Amino acid sequence: MASNTTSSMHATPTPSATLYRVTPIDPDGHVFQVTVTIDAPDPQGQLFSLPTWIPGSYLIREFAKNIVTMRAYAGPPRALTDAIDAATPAPQAPSADDEDLPITKVDKASWRVATGDGVATLTVQMQVYAWDLSVRTAYLDRTRGFFNGSSLFLQPHGREQAACMLTLERPAGALYRNWRVATTLPRYKTRPGAFGTYMAANYDALIDHPIELGEFLTVEFDACGTPHDIVLAGRFDADTDRLRADVSKICDAIIRLFEPEAARAPFDRYQFQCAVVGDGYGGLEHRDSTALLFSRNDLPFKGMQAPTDGYRGLLGLFSHEYFHAWHVKRIKPAAFSPYDLSRESYTSLLWLFEGFTSYYDDLMLLRSGVIERDDYLKALAKTMSQVMRGTGRLKQSVADSSFDAWTKYYRQDENAPNAIVSYYTKGALVGLCLDLSIRAASQGKKSLDDVMRALWQTYGADFERHQRGLPDEQAFIALAERATGVKLRKLTELAVFGTSDLPLQTLLARFGVSIDWEASSKGPSLGVKSLGRADGVLLQQVLSGAAAHRGGLSAGDLLIAADGIRLHNNGLDTVLQRRQPGDWLSLHAFRRDELMEFRVQLDEPSREQCKLRVEGKGNKLGAGWLRSV
Ligand code: ZN
Repeated sequence: MASNTTSSMHATPTPSATLYRVTPIDPDGHVFQVTVTIDAPDPQGQLFSLPTWIPGSYLIREFAKNIVTMRAYAGPPRALTDAIDAATPAPQAPSADDEDLPITKVDKASWRVATGDGVATLTVQMQVYAWDLSVRTAYLDRTRGFFNGSSLFLQPHGREQAACMLTLERPAGALYRNWRVATTLPRYKTRPGAFGTYMAANYDALIDHPIELGEFLTVEFDACGTPHDIVLAGRFDADTDRLRADVSKICDAIIRLFEPEAARAPFDRYQFQCAVVGDGYGGLEHRDSTALLFSRNDLPFKGMQAPTDGYRGLLGLFSHEYFHAWHVKRIKPAAFSPYDLSRESYTSLLWLFEGFTSYYDDLMLLRSGVIERDDYLKALAKTMSQVMRGTGRLKQSVADSSFDAWTKYYRQDENAPNAIVSYYTKGALVGLCLDLSIRAASQGKKSLDDVMRALWQTYGADFERHQRGLPDEQAFIALAERATGVKLRKLTELAVFGTSDLPLQTLLARFGVSIDWEASSKGPSLGVKSLGRADGVLLQQVLSGAAAHRGGLSAGDLLIAADGIRLHNNGLDTVLQRRQPGDWLSLHAFRRDELMEFRVQLDEPSREQCKLRVEGKGNKLGAGWLRSV
């Protein structure tokens, strides 16, 4: 069990600390009131900005669009005065000394407050709309509140390194009597889990600690002597003992991967903040916590033996975000050291930071003993199937996919499988390729683990002191070769900058693992991803070069008849099962509101489903790679 007093601190804030206050003033209207207060503002006019993106999610999200009102005045924060809605106007007119200071918009996410010499203390007060259930923004209703600082906290320019004090207020009303606070921000004269004041060393730290408000269940454990907790908000029933046991094994294994001798985590405590919902999936990494969102049906239940697919996926999510506490939160690309949150921060290295994290997330489940070898191979095969589907992998390298994450991976449209490759999935296979190559060349004496430890020692362990990020691929290759004594340049450059398929078949064979490619459905292939509906079959994606493409069909077309017979729901699968490759099919479809007819010649079933199998009893190299505790 974790001690509740571990992170208690009673330091005195410096006088120049930036003060923030968050009040959930209107849970039903999803509105937080937020103030920021500073002493001695810039007499030329104090500039403030809100981030346009949140680290870990590479898309400009324009958090400023959720600011509903903003005002500024001299002095400390006042009692709540603003109207919550039009039906309850603000009760008082401003008095003479209550005058707002003028605010000028500088750009979409920056404001300058006219201060003059007379203003010793400046407060900016905003109301922010919070109705995004994802882990990336902010959410508030009568069941719970959640936010990332990047959605609520203005940054006063020139004070990026100042300490921050954050006061969290409980919403008014009996409904919120039992609400508590979950965050890994250090407390200031505040009891564990209570509303009150919290601290951060600087703005960067402040916005790297998401905050959960509400009634939630806390599951505590120690990993290598460091207290961890899993905070579960939402409606669910679950075997939380099983969850605690499995997640603690994973955390333990990851700490030992990076620090095999010291077995020490780089944080004082760690928190998994889980929003449990009916349908949803996501996670965002932070330095000593993570925000997760997942389905209640993925939680373990009493009597569950082997993990269900859903639970295995959930453990993979825990593992993935936890791994990031080392790899991307401390070992960072140079482009993120420091983050520039006003615009896109380009790096070609997401294949390393997201891809290798994706490789290790499942591998650590096996290594920590929470899943079996065959389950691991099933998960790996799924990643291989995802990469092989579509021809985007033959057109875009993972380095380009990383660089263009902002405009391509994060803005996928119907043409994505034909145009892009995922730096997550193919990046994971690059990790696999390097791991197997190092193990094979060193007779199992070295592995990708040695590369991860070298990255950690060079860039991560001392990050707070040096603030030095990994510059580029060449620096990575040099480091990996030094750490392992294996020549990796040619393979890495081909895998990262090239678009040909990786030599996985040959590599896996050396580890006693064979690959089979099977068709995922019966019957010939049309080469589409579709959705059966009551009014027809909607084509969501059309694979480049496949039957539907050659026949003139497009994503967005609604198929309504095949060979003159009405088509809906699962009808397309039924039709295809009764045909042969090479057969011609007449398809009627609506494109927008125009009826069109297409003649399509069906393809061979596409063998895109990967199956991995250990040959016989396997071999020694394979046993080293697929070892479990
Ligand atoms: Zn990730």
